[in-house]
Amino acid sequence: MRLSGVQKLTHIDYPGKLAAIAFTPGCTLRCRYCYNPEFVLPDAIQRLTSSFIPESIFFRFLDSRRGLLDGVVICGGEPTIHRDLPEFLEKIRARGFLIKLDTNGGNPDMLEYLLRKWLVNAVAMDIKFPLDRYVELAGRHVGPERYRRSIALIRASGVQYEFRTTVIRDWHTPTIMQSITREIPDAPHYAIQNFRSEKTLDPDFVGGSFTRDQMHTLAAAAEHYVRRCEVRM
Ligand code: SF4
Repeated sequence: MRLSGVQKLTHIDYPGKLAAIAFTPGCTLRCRYCYNPEFVLPDAIQRLTSSFIPESIFFRFLDSRRGLLDGVVICGGEPTIHRDLPEFLEKIRARGFLIKLDTNGGNPDMLEYLLRKWLVNAVAMDIKFPLDRYVELAGRHVGPERYRRSIALIRASGVQYEFRTTVIRDWHTPTIMQSITREIPDAPHYAIQNFRSEKTLDPDFVGGSFTRDQMHTLAAAAEHYVRRCEVRM
């Protein structure tokens, strides 16, 4: 596994834990608002490949953090597109670190394998938009069933999990929030995070941030279906 980046410390991306973040290149979606197009678009990835971090360097770093970090967050792009992800996670687990996976939910087969092998301790799944309207915002026609399968796998897994959505002004309305959260009825924890970006995958993308009051209006709409909606500004 070669990594597109490493963040040495986060205390917000793995709730309750001190963690490092390992970023993997490539993604199945083309979210118009994506703030990391250089790690999503194949041509851009090709240009950056020489600067990717070999696994050996990552593990040398991780070995130096034993006793200091609780875990590692695996983040993309979309990590589950990499066939060698299970081996990579096994090496992290063998060193005694917890593992949190951030995923868009588009690869339920890989997700099921990782959960069955207990290779992840926590999962966060992004739900971008109503599943039958992904092409409008996530840039790809998707079969909603594979995302529904990922949702079901996560809910039945017994690991710590959250579902979340980056919300964008002019896109996410209270009605849209209800279409999204209808897919995760009674979920104990759902989070909405405010869109902030100067750079987007689609240079013509138009969308903005919400005010705090507007975020709470969206959260109230979401809570029609989920038990709690956390607002992240
Ligand atoms: S924002 Fe969308 S395109 Fe960008 S990495 Fe995440 S899932 Fe992939």
